[in-house]
Amino acid sequence: MLESWTIHRATRVGALAFALGIALPFGAHAQEWVFRGGPGNPGPSIDAYVNQVGPEASIVPHGSLQIDGKSVNCGKRPTVLNPAFDSWGGAFPGFLILNTNKISGLTTQVKLYIYSHECGHQFVGADEIQADLFAIRRGVRWGWLDAQGMEDICVFISKLKGDSVHPPGPKRCETMRKYYQKLIENGTQTTSSPVDSGAHTLGPTR
Ligand SMILES: [Zn+2]
Repeated sequence: MLESWTIHRATRVGALAFALGIALPFGAHAQEWVFRGGPGNPGPSIDAYVNQVGPEASIVPHGSLQIDGKSVNCGKRPTVLNPAFDSWGGAFPGFLILNTNKISGLTTQVKLYIYSHECGHQFVGADEIQADLFAIRRGVRWGWLDAQGMEDICVFISKLKGDSVHPPGPKRCETMRKYYQKLIENGTQTTSSPVDSGAHTLGPTR
């Protein structure tokens, strides 16, 4: 899990939430910040978010983000790099958040998993398991996830405790590992050109 929520940080995020009139899902055990607003509550615009975070945040437009030299995308959604973010990554409807400091020591496949998990929220909504499976499916289809990467993801995620919305890390590892095996056994094809039409969005739309 996220080691701690500092009072400063929680206050700041709380202030953002207050300013934007949104309900925040986090608590002492939060490990990832995913917007869970309901109908009629679209969340902040990316500009509003960046303005609230301050000068340390920067926007990477769609098509420009690279992770360890690999180009990644989440449909046409931009990414906010926020080195002070409380978790490795997060998601609001319409954009993603990556903490460049927090992910810097991780392996490439774990970084890609984190990005893809947050991207998954754009398509599957707030469900954490479905976002995990989205990331694994993407990794296999796009060819960046192999057995070693799956193990790296498990080592990473298994350290996380669960909270009200995230199952315990070891359980998430087990679920993802089984799904990875199934995809491999079914011969899921790698696609050479990742196309992400956004047509299957069931979650937040912008
Ligand atoms: Zn998530």
